[in-house]
Amino acid sequence: LDVPENPIIPIIHGDGIGKDVGPAAQKILEAAADATGREINWMRVYAGESAREKYDENLPEETVDAIREHRVAIKGPLTTPVGAGFRSLNVALRQTLDLYANVRPTYYLDGVPSPMKSPEEMDMVTFRENTEDVYAGIEWEAGTDEVEQVRDFVEQDMGFDSTIHEGPVGIGIKPITEKGSKRLVREAIDYALEHDRDKVTLVHKGNIMKFTEGQFSEWGMEVADEEYPDDEVFAAPDSLWETQEDIDIPEGAVMVEERLADAMLQWMQLRTDEFDVMAMPNLNGDYLSDAAGAQIGGLGIAPGANFGEARCLAEPVHGSAPKRAGQDQANPTALTLSGVLMFDYIGWDDAAQLVKDAVEETISSGKVTYDLERNLEDAEKLSTTEFSDTVVE
Ligand code: NAD
Repeated sequence: LDVPENPIIPIIHGDGIGKDVGPAAQKILEAAADATGREINWMRVYAGESAREKYDENLPEETVDAIREHRVAIKGPLTTPVGAGFRSLNVALRQTLDLYANVRPTYYLDGVPSPMKSPEEMDMVTFRENTEDVYAGIEWEAGTDEVEQVRDFVEQDMGFDSTIHEGPVGIGIKPITEKGSKRLVREAIDYALEHDRDKVTLVHKGNIMKFTEGQFSEWGMEVADEEYPDDEVFAAPDSLWETQEDIDIPEGAVMVEERLADAMLQWMQLRTDEFDVMAMPNLNGDYLSDAAGAQIGGLGIAPGANFGEARCLAEPVHGSAPKRAGQDQANPTALTLSGVLMFDYIGWDDAAQLVKDAVEETISSGKVTYDLERNLEDAEKLSTTEFSDTVVE
Protein backbone atom coordinates (compact mmCIF):
# COMPACT_ATOMS: atom_id res chain seq x y z
CA LEU A 1 0.00 0.00 0.00
CA ASP A 2 1.32 3.46 -0.88
CA VAL A 3 1.45 5.76 2.13
CA PRO A 4 2.76 9.32 2.52
CA GLU A 5 6.48 9.61 3.15
CA ASN A 6 5.94 10.45 6.81
CA PRO A 7 2.73 8.57 7.49
CA ILE A 8 0.40 9.02 10.42
CA ILE A 9 0.15 5.62 12.09
CA PRO A 10 -2.48 5.10 14.80
CA ILE A 11 -1.22 2.98 17.69
CA ILE A 12 -3.13 1.30 20.53
CA HIS A 13 -0.72 0.17 23.24
CA GLY A 14 -3.35 -2.13 24.70
CA ASP A 15 -4.35 -3.59 28.06
CA GLY A 16 -2.40 -5.73 30.53
CA ILE A 17 1.07 -6.37 29.15
CA GLY A 18 0.14 -4.02 26.28
CA LYS A 19 1.18 -1.20 28.62
CA ASP A 20 4.67 -2.74 28.71
CA VAL A 21 5.13 -4.08 25.19
CA GLY A 22 3.31 -1.20 23.44
CA PRO A 23 5.88 1.54 24.17
CA ALA A 24 8.76 -0.96 23.84
CA ALA A 25 7.75 -2.08 20.34
CA GLN A 26 6.98 1.49 19.32
CA LYS A 27 10.52 2.53 20.24
CA ILE A 28 12.06 -0.23 18.09
CA LEU A 29 9.86 0.48 15.07
CA GLU A 30 10.57 4.18 15.33
CA ALA A 31 14.32 3.56 15.46
CA ALA A 32 14.15 1.41 12.31
CA ALA A 33 12.14 4.06 10.47
CA ASP A 34 14.64 6.69 11.57
CA ALA A 35 17.63 4.58 10.50
CA THR A 36 16.14 4.15 7.02
CA GLY A 37 15.46 7.87 6.57
CA ARG A 38 11.76 7.98 7.43
CA GLU A 39 9.57 9.41 10.11
CA ILE A 40 6.43 7.95 11.64
CA ASN A 41 3.87 10.36 13.03
CA TRP A 42 2.42 8.17 15.75
CA MET A 43 -1.17 8.89 16.71
CA ARG A 44 -1.98 7.41 20.11
CA VAL A 45 -5.54 6.06 20.06
CA TYR A 46 -7.35 4.17 22.74
CA ALA A 47 -9.45 1.05 23.19
CA GLY A 48 -10.25 -1.19 26.15
CA GLU A 49 -9.23 -0.16 29.66
CA SER A 50 -7.43 3.04 28.69
CA ALA A 51 -10.42 4.13 26.58
CA ARG A 52 -12.77 3.50 29.48
CA GLU A 53 -10.60 5.72 31.68
CA LYS A 54 -10.38 8.50 29.08
CA TYR A 55 -13.71 8.36 27.25
CA ASP A 56 -15.87 6.06 29.40
CA GLU A 57 -16.35 3.68 26.51
CA ASN A 58 -14.53 0.60 25.23
CA LEU A 59 -14.12 1.37 21.59
CA PRO A 60 -14.41 5.12 20.85
CA GLU A 61 -15.47 6.14 17.37
CA GLU A 62 -12.31 8.26 17.14
CA THR A 63 -10.21 5.09 17.28
CA VAL A 64 -12.14 3.27 14.59
CA ASP A 65 -12.22 6.41 12.40
CA ALA A 66 -8.46 6.93 12.76
CA ILE A 67 -7.69 3.38 11.60
CA ARG A 68 -10.22 3.71 8.77
CA GLU A 69 -8.70 7.00 7.61
CA HIS A 70 -5.01 6.20 7.91
CA ARG A 71 -5.35 2.61 6.68
CA VAL A 72 -2.34 1.25 8.50
CA ALA A 73 -2.28 0.88 12.29
CA ILE A 74 -0.86 -1.28 15.06
CA LYS A 75 -2.38 -2.50 18.31
CA GLY A 76 -1.39 -4.41 21.42
CA PRO A 77 -3.76 -6.85 23.14
CA LEU A 78 -7.11 -5.86 24.62
CA THR A 79 -8.99 -7.42 27.51
CA THR A 80 -12.71 -7.73 27.03
CA PRO A 81 -14.51 -6.93 30.28
CA VAL A 82 -16.89 -9.67 31.39
CA GLY A 83 -20.54 -8.75 30.76
CA ALA A 84 -19.68 -5.88 28.41
CA GLY A 85 -22.52 -6.67 26.02
CA PHE A 86 -20.25 -7.90 23.24
CA ARG A 87 -18.00 -10.89 22.99
CA SER A 88 -14.66 -9.31 22.31
CA LEU A 89 -13.31 -5.86 21.54
CA ASN A 90 -10.84 -7.40 19.13
CA VAL A 91 -13.59 -9.19 17.24
CA ALA A 92 -15.63 -5.95 17.21
CA LEU A 93 -12.69 -4.01 15.71
CA ARG A 94 -11.99 -6.64 13.05
CA GLN A 95 -15.66 -6.86 12.10
CA THR A 96 -16.32 -3.10 12.10
CA LEU A 97 -13.37 -2.47 9.79
CA ASP A 98 -14.03 -5.64 7.75
CA LEU A 99 -10.47 -6.83 8.32
CA TYR A 100 -11.23 -10.22 6.89
CA ALA A 101 -7.84 -11.92 6.82
CA ASN A 102 -5.78 -12.51 9.93
CA VAL A 103 -2.30 -13.39 8.76
CA ARG A 104 0.15 -15.05 11.12
CA PRO A 105 3.59 -16.05 9.91
CA THR A 106 5.45 -18.64 11.97
CA TYR A 107 9.18 -18.65 11.37
CA TYR A 108 12.14 -19.56 13.50
CA LEU A 109 14.45 -16.98 15.03
CA ASP A 110 17.96 -18.14 15.71
CA GLY A 111 18.62 -18.77 19.40
CA VAL A 112 15.02 -19.26 20.50
CA PRO A 113 14.36 -22.37 22.64
CA SER A 114 11.91 -24.68 20.85
CA PRO A 115 10.45 -28.11 21.70
CA MET A 116 11.03 -29.21 18.08
CA LYS A 117 13.94 -31.24 16.73
CA SER A 118 14.38 -29.01 13.67
CA PRO A 119 12.64 -25.72 14.44
CA GLU A 120 14.50 -24.01 11.60
CA GLU A 121 12.25 -25.97 9.20
CA MET A 122 9.26 -24.02 10.46
CA ASP A 123 8.25 -21.37 7.95
CA MET A 124 4.48 -21.24 7.60
CA VAL A 125 1.92 -18.51 7.17
CA THR A 126 -1.65 -19.00 8.37
CA PHE A 127 -4.54 -17.08 6.81
CA ARG A 128 -7.36 -17.11 9.34
CA GLU A 129 -10.82 -15.92 8.25
CA ASN A 130 -11.58 -13.07 10.60
CA THR A 131 -15.22 -12.06 10.35
CA GLU A 132 -17.46 -15.14 10.54
CA ASP A 133 -17.63 -18.72 11.90
CA VAL A 134 -18.47 -19.04 15.63
CA TYR A 135 -17.02 -15.53 16.14
CA ALA A 136 -20.16 -14.09 14.56
CA GLY A 137 -21.52 -14.63 18.08
CA ILE A 138 -24.91 -16.16 17.18
CA GLU A 139 -25.79 -17.99 20.38
CA TRP A 140 -28.75 -18.54 22.66
CA GLU A 141 -28.33 -18.89 26.40
CA ALA A 142 -29.63 -21.96 28.24
CA GLY A 143 -32.88 -21.32 30.12
CA THR A 144 -34.14 -18.42 27.95
CA ASP A 145 -37.37 -18.41 25.92
CA GLU A 146 -35.37 -17.83 22.77
CA VAL A 147 -33.25 -20.94 23.20
CA GLU A 148 -36.40 -23.02 23.71
CA GLN A 149 -37.74 -21.79 20.35
CA VAL A 150 -34.51 -22.68 18.63
CA ARG A 151 -34.55 -26.02 20.43
CA ASP A 152 -38.04 -26.76 19.09
CA PHE A 153 -36.75 -26.04 15.61
CA VAL A 154 -33.67 -28.24 15.86
CA GLU A 155 -35.67 -31.06 17.45
CA GLN A 156 -38.41 -31.07 14.86
CA ASP A 157 -36.47 -30.27 11.74
CA MET A 158 -32.94 -31.43 12.37
CA GLY A 159 -33.24 -34.55 14.48
CA PHE A 160 -31.63 -33.21 17.67
CA ASP A 161 -32.90 -35.83 20.13
CA SER A 162 -34.04 -34.35 23.43
CA THR A 163 -34.53 -37.77 25.01
CA ILE A 164 -30.76 -38.16 24.90
CA HIS A 165 -29.93 -34.49 25.42
CA GLU A 166 -32.53 -33.65 28.02
CA GLY A 167 -32.34 -30.64 30.35
CA PRO A 168 -30.97 -27.13 29.69
CA VAL A 169 -29.19 -26.50 26.42
CA GLY A 170 -27.14 -23.66 24.95
CA ILE A 171 -27.25 -23.38 21.16
CA GLY A 172 -24.95 -21.64 18.72
CA ILE A 173 -24.82 -21.21 14.95
CA LYS A 174 -21.75 -20.77 12.80
CA PRO A 175 -22.16 -18.94 9.49
CA ILE A 176 -19.58 -19.51 6.75
CA THR A 177 -20.23 -17.61 3.53
CA GLU A 178 -19.10 -18.03 -0.05
CA LYS A 179 -17.86 -14.44 -0.12
CA GLY A 180 -15.93 -14.78 3.18
CA SER A 181 -14.36 -18.10 2.19
CA LYS A 182 -13.42 -17.11 -1.33
CA ARG A 183 -11.84 -13.77 -0.53
CA LEU A 184 -9.73 -15.38 2.20
CA VAL A 185 -8.52 -18.22 -0.01
CA ARG A 186 -7.84 -15.74 -2.82
CA GLU A 187 -5.64 -13.69 -0.44
CA ALA A 188 -3.74 -16.83 0.57
CA ILE A 189 -3.16 -17.91 -3.05
CA ASP A 190 -2.08 -14.41 -4.11
CA TYR A 191 0.30 -14.29 -1.16
CA ALA A 192 1.75 -17.68 -2.14
CA LEU A 193 2.25 -16.54 -5.75
CA GLU A 194 3.87 -13.27 -4.70
CA HIS A 195 6.17 -14.83 -2.13
CA ASP A 196 7.30 -17.86 -4.15
CA ARG A 197 5.52 -20.33 -1.92
CA ASP A 198 4.37 -23.49 -3.63
CA LYS A 199 1.48 -24.77 -1.53
CA VAL A 200 -1.74 -23.52 0.05
CA THR A 201 -3.40 -25.96 2.45
CA LEU A 202 -7.09 -25.46 3.27
CA VAL A 203 -7.62 -26.62 6.84
CA HIS A 204 -11.17 -27.56 7.82
CA LYS A 205 -13.42 -29.99 9.64
CA GLY A 206 -15.72 -30.68 6.70
CA ASN A 207 -16.12 -34.36 7.51
CA ILE A 208 -18.32 -33.31 10.47
CA MET A 209 -19.50 -29.79 9.55
CA LYS A 210 -20.27 -30.49 5.92
CA PHE A 211 -22.31 -27.40 5.07
CA THR A 212 -20.00 -24.91 6.76
CA GLU A 213 -16.40 -26.14 6.91
CA GLY A 214 -16.89 -28.61 4.05
CA GLN A 215 -18.36 -25.83 1.97
CA PHE A 216 -15.45 -23.54 2.89
CA SER A 217 -13.12 -26.05 1.30
CA GLU A 218 -15.30 -26.52 -1.80
CA TRP A 219 -15.48 -22.77 -2.33
CA GLY A 220 -11.73 -22.53 -1.80
CA MET A 221 -11.08 -25.23 -4.39
CA GLU A 222 -13.39 -23.39 -6.79
CA VAL A 223 -11.18 -20.31 -6.47
CA ALA A 224 -8.13 -22.44 -7.28
CA ASP A 225 -9.86 -24.13 -10.22
CA GLU A 226 -11.69 -21.22 -11.79
CA GLU A 227 -9.84 -18.00 -11.08
CA TYR A 228 -6.25 -18.74 -12.09
CA PRO A 229 -4.55 -20.27 -15.13
CA ASP A 230 -3.95 -24.02 -14.62
CA ASP A 231 -0.18 -23.70 -14.94
CA GLU A 232 -0.19 -21.08 -12.17
CA VAL A 233 -2.56 -22.57 -9.57
CA PHE A 234 -3.93 -26.09 -9.47
CA ALA A 235 -6.01 -28.15 -7.01
CA ALA A 236 -4.34 -31.33 -5.73
CA PRO A 237 -6.34 -34.51 -6.32
CA ASP A 238 -7.57 -36.47 -3.25
CA SER A 239 -5.53 -34.44 -0.85
CA LEU A 240 -7.84 -34.92 2.14
CA TRP A 241 -6.65 -38.45 2.84
CA GLU A 242 -3.36 -38.73 0.97
CA THR A 243 -0.10 -36.98 1.57
CA GLN A 244 1.07 -35.11 -1.46
CA GLU A 245 4.83 -35.33 -1.29
CA ASP A 246 4.99 -37.20 -4.64
CA ILE A 247 3.38 -34.43 -6.63
CA ASP A 248 5.87 -32.27 -8.48
CA ILE A 249 4.89 -28.64 -8.24
CA PRO A 250 6.21 -26.77 -11.31
CA GLU A 251 8.49 -23.81 -10.67
CA GLY A 252 6.45 -20.71 -9.86
CA ALA A 253 3.16 -22.63 -9.51
CA VAL A 254 0.98 -23.06 -6.42
CA MET A 255 -0.79 -26.27 -5.45
CA VAL A 256 -3.96 -25.99 -3.36
CA GLU A 257 -4.70 -28.97 -1.13
CA GLU A 258 -6.99 -29.65 1.84
CA ARG A 259 -6.47 -31.26 5.24
CA LEU A 260 -8.73 -32.04 8.18
CA ALA A 261 -8.03 -29.69 11.06
CA ASP A 262 -7.45 -32.35 13.73
CA ALA A 263 -4.97 -34.28 11.60
CA MET A 264 -3.35 -31.02 10.56
CA LEU A 265 -2.32 -30.23 14.13
CA GLN A 266 -0.41 -33.50 14.06
CA TRP A 267 1.10 -33.07 10.58
CA MET A 268 2.21 -29.58 11.43
CA GLN A 269 4.44 -30.97 14.15
CA LEU A 270 5.59 -34.20 12.52
CA ARG A 271 6.15 -32.92 8.98
CA THR A 272 6.80 -29.26 9.48
CA ASP A 273 8.73 -28.81 6.25
CA GLU A 274 5.75 -29.99 4.14
CA PHE A 275 3.55 -27.00 4.91
CA ASP A 276 3.74 -23.53 3.62
CA VAL A 277 0.67 -21.26 3.44
CA MET A 278 -2.51 -22.39 5.17
CA ALA A 279 -6.02 -20.92 4.89
CA MET A 280 -8.84 -21.76 7.26
CA PRO A 281 -12.05 -20.69 8.99
CA ASN A 282 -11.79 -18.49 12.07
CA LEU A 283 -11.76 -20.97 14.96
CA ASN A 284 -9.34 -23.40 13.30
CA GLY A 285 -7.04 -20.45 12.69
CA ASP A 286 -7.23 -19.39 16.32
CA TYR A 287 -6.17 -22.81 17.59
CA LEU A 288 -3.66 -23.61 14.88
CA SER A 289 -1.74 -20.34 15.02
CA ASP A 290 -1.27 -20.54 18.80
CA ALA A 291 -0.01 -24.12 18.42
CA ALA A 292 2.31 -23.07 15.60
CA GLY A 293 3.57 -20.19 17.76
CA ALA A 294 4.44 -22.62 20.56
CA GLN A 295 6.63 -24.58 18.15
CA ILE A 296 8.90 -21.63 17.52
CA GLY A 297 9.21 -20.32 21.07
CA GLY A 298 5.76 -19.29 22.28
CA LEU A 299 3.33 -16.41 22.19
CA GLY A 300 5.94 -13.87 23.24
CA ILE A 301 7.39 -13.93 19.74
CA ALA A 302 4.39 -14.80 17.51
CA PRO A 303 3.37 -11.88 15.24
CA GLY A 304 0.24 -11.25 13.18
CA ALA A 305 -1.73 -8.68 11.25
CA ASN A 306 -5.33 -8.19 10.11
CA PHE A 307 -5.91 -7.20 6.51
CA GLY A 308 -8.94 -5.83 4.70
CA GLU A 309 -9.46 -3.95 1.47
CA ALA A 310 -6.38 -1.65 1.36
CA ARG A 311 -6.09 -1.72 5.14
CA CYS A 312 -3.80 -3.32 7.74
CA LEU A 313 -4.06 -3.53 11.51
CA ALA A 314 -0.96 -5.23 12.90
CA GLU A 315 -1.60 -7.20 16.09
CA PRO A 316 0.32 -9.97 17.88
CA VAL A 317 -1.20 -13.42 18.43
CA HIS A 318 -1.03 -13.11 22.22
CA GLY A 319 -3.49 -11.55 24.65
CA SER A 320 -3.06 -9.20 27.59
CA ALA A 321 -1.54 -11.85 29.94
CA PRO A 322 -2.89 -10.10 33.10
CA LYS A 323 -0.58 -12.00 35.45
CA ARG A 324 2.47 -10.28 33.94
CA ALA A 325 0.87 -6.87 33.36
CA GLY A 326 2.69 -3.69 34.35
CA GLN A 327 5.79 -5.53 35.56
CA ASP A 328 8.14 -4.65 32.71
CA GLN A 329 8.66 -8.39 32.06
CA ALA A 330 6.73 -9.34 28.94
CA ASN A 331 8.36 -9.99 25.60
CA PRO A 332 7.82 -7.13 23.11
CA THR A 333 9.01 -9.28 20.17
CA ALA A 334 5.54 -10.42 19.04
CA LEU A 335 4.22 -6.87 18.78
CA THR A 336 7.48 -5.65 17.23
CA LEU A 337 7.41 -8.35 14.55
CA SER A 338 3.75 -7.52 13.92
CA GLY A 339 5.08 -4.05 13.11
CA VAL A 340 7.41 -5.74 10.60
CA LEU A 341 4.33 -7.07 8.77
CA MET A 342 2.97 -3.52 8.74
CA PHE A 343 6.29 -2.22 7.31
CA ASP A 344 6.20 -4.94 4.63
CA TYR A 345 2.68 -3.89 3.70
CA ILE A 346 3.68 -0.28 3.11
CA GLY A 347 6.80 -1.29 1.20
CA TRP A 348 9.34 -0.42 3.91
CA ASP A 349 11.26 -3.63 3.25
CA ASP A 350 14.60 -2.30 4.47
CA ALA A 351 13.12 -1.12 7.79
CA ALA A 352 11.33 -4.47 8.17
CA GLN A 353 14.54 -6.42 7.60
CA LEU A 354 16.46 -4.18 9.99
CA VAL A 355 13.98 -4.88 12.80
CA LYS A 356 14.02 -8.63 12.15
CA ASP A 357 17.81 -8.75 12.09
CA ALA A 358 18.15 -6.66 15.26
CA VAL A 359 15.63 -8.79 17.17
CA GLU A 360 17.28 -12.00 16.01
CA GLU A 361 20.77 -10.74 16.86
CA THR A 362 19.64 -9.73 20.36
CA ILE A 363 17.98 -13.08 21.03
CA SER A 364 20.80 -15.18 19.59
CA SER A 365 23.29 -13.30 21.79
CA GLY A 366 21.38 -14.75 24.76
CA LYS A 367 19.74 -11.48 25.86
CA VAL A 368 16.10 -12.37 26.27
CA THR A 369 12.97 -11.75 28.34
CA TYR A 370 11.76 -14.16 31.03
CA ASP A 371 9.64 -16.34 28.73
CA LEU A 372 12.65 -17.44 26.67
CA GLU A 373 15.22 -17.24 29.47
CA ARG A 374 13.53 -19.97 31.51
CA ASN A 375 14.13 -22.47 28.70
CA LEU A 376 17.68 -21.42 27.86
CA GLU A 377 20.96 -22.15 29.54
CA ASP A 378 23.37 -19.25 30.10
CA ALA A 379 20.91 -16.61 28.94
CA GLU A 380 20.68 -13.14 30.44
CA LYS A 381 17.18 -12.20 31.59
CA LEU A 382 16.22 -8.67 30.48
CA SER A 383 13.19 -6.58 31.32
CA THR A 384 10.86 -5.44 28.54
CA THR A 385 12.56 -2.03 28.49
CA GLU A 386 16.09 -3.46 28.53
CA PHE A 387 15.28 -5.83 25.71
CA SER A 388 13.81 -3.04 23.62
CA ASP A 389 16.81 -0.78 24.30
CA THR A 390 19.21 -3.58 23.30
CA VAL A 391 17.36 -4.15 20.02
CA VAL A 392 17.44 -0.41 19.29
CA GLU A 393 21.16 -0.28 20.00
P1 NAD B 1 -2.53 -14.54 26.68
O1 NAD B 1 -1.98 -14.64 25.30
O2 NAD B 1 -2.78 -13.18 27.19
O3 NAD B 1 -1.53 -15.23 27.68
C1 NAD B 1 -1.25 -16.62 27.75
C2 NAD B 1 0.14 -16.81 28.36
O4 NAD B 1 1.12 -16.63 27.34
C3 NAD B 1 0.51 -15.80 29.43
O5 NAD B 1 0.12 -16.20 30.70
C4 NAD B 1 2.01 -15.71 29.31
O6 NAD B 1 2.58 -16.77 30.02
C5 NAD B 1 2.26 -15.96 27.85
N1 NAD B 1 2.46 -14.73 27.08
C6 NAD B 1 1.57 -14.13 26.23
N2 NAD B 1 2.13 -13.05 25.69
C7 NAD B 1 3.38 -12.95 26.18
C8 NAD B 1 4.45 -12.01 25.99
N3 NAD B 1 4.35 -10.97 25.14
N4 NAD B 1 5.60 -12.20 26.69
C9 NAD B 1 5.73 -13.23 27.50
N5 NAD B 1 4.76 -14.15 27.72
C10 NAD B 1 3.59 -14.01 27.07
O7 NAD B 1 -3.86 -15.43 26.71
P2 NAD B 1 -5.01 -15.53 27.80
O8 NAD B 1 -4.42 -15.60 29.16
O9 NAD B 1 -5.85 -16.62 27.32
O10 NAD B 1 -5.84 -14.18 27.66
C11 NAD B 1 -5.72 -13.06 28.52
C12 NAD B 1 -6.65 -11.93 28.01
O11 NAD B 1 -6.24 -11.51 26.71
C13 NAD B 1 -8.13 -12.30 27.88
O12 NAD B 1 -8.90 -11.20 28.32
C14 NAD B 1 -8.32 -12.50 26.39
O13 NAD B 1 -9.63 -12.22 25.98
C15 NAD B 1 -7.36 -11.47 25.83
N6 NAD B 1 -6.88 -11.78 24.46
C16 NAD B 1 -6.74 -10.73 23.63
C17 NAD B 1 -6.23 -10.94 22.36
C18 NAD B 1 -6.08 -9.75 21.46
O14 NAD B 1 -6.10 -8.62 21.93
N7 NAD B 1 -5.94 -9.93 20.17
C19 NAD B 1 -5.84 -12.21 21.95
C20 NAD B 1 -5.95 -13.27 22.86
C21 NAD B 1 -6.47 -13.04 24.13
